[in-house]
Amino acid sequence: MVIFKKINDLKEWLSIQKKDGKTIGFVPTMGALHRGHTSLVGLSVAQGNHTVCSVFVNPTQFNDKEDFNKYPLTPEADIALLAAAGCHVLFLPAVEEMYPAGFEAQKAYSFGYLESILEGAKRPGHFKGVGQIVGRLLEIVEPNKLYMGQKDYQQCQVVKDLIRQMSIGDKTELMVSPTVREADGLAMSSRNTRLTESQRAIAGIIYQCLVSIQSKQGISPFSVVEKECKDLMEAKGLAPEYVALADAGDLTLLDDYESGRKMVALIATKLGSVRLIDNLVLE
Ligand code: AMP
Repeated sequence: MVIFKKINDLKEWLSIQKKDGKTIGFVPTMGALHRGHTSLVGLSVAQGNHTVCSVFVNPTQFNDKEDFNKYPLTPEADIALLAAAGCHVLFLPAVEEMYPAGFEAQKAYSFGYLESILEGAKRPGHFKGVGQIVGRLLEIVEPNKLYMGQKDYQQCQVVKDLIRQMSIGDKTELMVSPTVREADGLAMSSRNTRLTESQRAIAGIIYQCLVSIQSKQGISPFSVVEKECKDLMEAKGLAPEYVALADAGDLTLLDDYESGRKMVALIATKLGSVRLIDNLVLE
C-alpha cells in the first residue's frame, strides 16, 4: 500500500491507473478504523477496483468542539488494517492540504430538507461540513465507485444529493454497504472506544430498540413503540435524542408505520459523553 499526503502525488498515481484502464474505488473515512471501515475497503477490492482510502478528521463537520478534540486517532493501527484489507492507497492529508484557503473558502452545498431533520437538526452545520469535504475529495479522486456505510444513513442520502448537485452521477456511483455490528448488535463506530466498560455493556440496547421497532410493525402504533424505546433507553442510563421512523427513500418523517412503504428506523442517543447513531431498514 502506498501512502500519499499531498494531493498532487495522489493525482499523479490516479492518472496512471486511469490511463491503464483501472477503475477506482474510494472509501473516505475519519480513521480509528474498525471492521466497518475495512468491510467497505474489502468490498471495493473484491469488486476489482484500485482502492483509495482517505483518513482525514474533517474539522468542518464537527458542531461539537469536544467531540472533535476527543476524536480517536490511531494512525499506526489504521495503516496495518488497510494494508491487510488489500487497500492500494491511503490518502492522509493535513488540514492545510484540504483547506488551503481556509474553511470558509471551501465550496459548500445546501441539502434543504435533508439537512433540516434528524442529524441535521441535532448537529447544525454537520452536513455542510460533510458536503465540503466529500465534495473536495470527489473532485480530487474522481472515483468510479464511492463506498459508504449504511450506518450513516442520512449521510448516504446527503452524499447521493451531493453527487447530483456536482453533476458527476455518470462518473461516480455511490455504493451503500451494510452496517457491521458487534456480537450484541452495537454498530461498530470509532466512538465506541470512548465508552467505559459499563457503558459498553448496555450499548447493545440501541440495536434491540431498532429490532423492536421492526417487530412491532402492524402490532402497535409507532408512537407507542417510540415511547417504549425511549423509556427503556432512559431506564438503562442512555439519553435518547430521537427515535424516528422515516421513508427509506427520501427520509420523510412518519408519525406511524405505513404498510407498503419502505421505511427506516433511526436512533440517536448519548451514552455518557459519547453520541451514538444507528438505523435499521424495516423488513
Ligand atoms: P467515519 O470514519 O465514521 O466517517 O466512517 C467512514 C465510512 O465508514 C462512512 O461511510 C461510514 O458510514 C462507514 N462506517 C462506519 N461505521 C460502519 C459500520 N459499523 N459498518 C459499515 N460502515 C461503517
